[in-house]
Amino acid sequence: MSKRNGFIIAANWKMYMTTSEAKAFVHSMEPMAPDGPELILFVPATALAAISEEARQKNILVGLQNMHWEKEGAYTGEISAEMIKDAGGTQAIVGHSKRRSMFGETDLEVNFKVRTAQQNGLVPCVCIGEDIKERESGEYHKVLLRQIVGGLIGVRSAPLIIAYEPVWAIGTGTAATTEQVSETMGWIRRVLIEQFGREEGSAIKLLYGGSAKPENVAELAVLDNVDGFLIGRAGLKVDSLKQILDRIP
Ligand code: PEP
Repeated sequence: MSKRNGFIIAANWKMYMTTSEAKAFVHSMEPMAPDGPELILFVPATALAAISEEARQKNILVGLQNMHWEKEGAYTGEISAEMIKDAGGTQAIVGHSKRRSMFGETDLEVNFKVRTAQQNGLVPCVCIGEDIKERESGEYHKVLLRQIVGGLIGVRSAPLIIAYEPVWAIGTGTAATTEQVSETMGWIRRVLIEQFGREEGSAIKLLYGGSAKPENVAELAVLDNVDGFLIGRAGLKVDSLKQILDRIP
């Protein structure tokens, strides 16, 4: 059965793309069909307002890679949910592994951000994932459980996207194997069902991230519990993003 309808392809542009590059990128994309995959671009804050109108016309969703939980205040350098909406965004990544490892983001902060995003009608895309030591020691379920319980306590099941991104696969060019993705995402689904109940837990979109690219998306996309991809490097070029969209079975 085709998985294309509603399958999510989300590109995390990280600290790449000037505003003019971002505009040219969106300009080169075809409008997204309403019955095909959904495309989300997580762009640098400087580019959001400049691309959001053309993206909306093309049925492409846009948002930022982080947000603060407070409405306003002396939070130098931070951006609120209100500001994301004002710039035309509808989505926000929360708890990306680089924010956790480089900027010390905690599960408690993730939780504040997810609640704030939901209260403001933004779709939070919450990233979870273990590092290589945690994978090799077999402790990764414990780590993922801590991130899910800590990040999602008191949170609604919708709007909500979860991205499983094993830290050891991000930016390496080598994705997790189909067996690893299948086992781990099946386990995450069971935890979500325990937390939210069968119907709501089953409806949460689960993305895989970590070196997803045109060469491997078709085999990963067919797995149960893979409802989309969060893509870094391969989402920075129009051609590879189009190839990924075309290869979703
Ligand atoms: C990411 O940054 O979330 C990511 C998955 O990057 P890459 O696809 O380059 O591994």
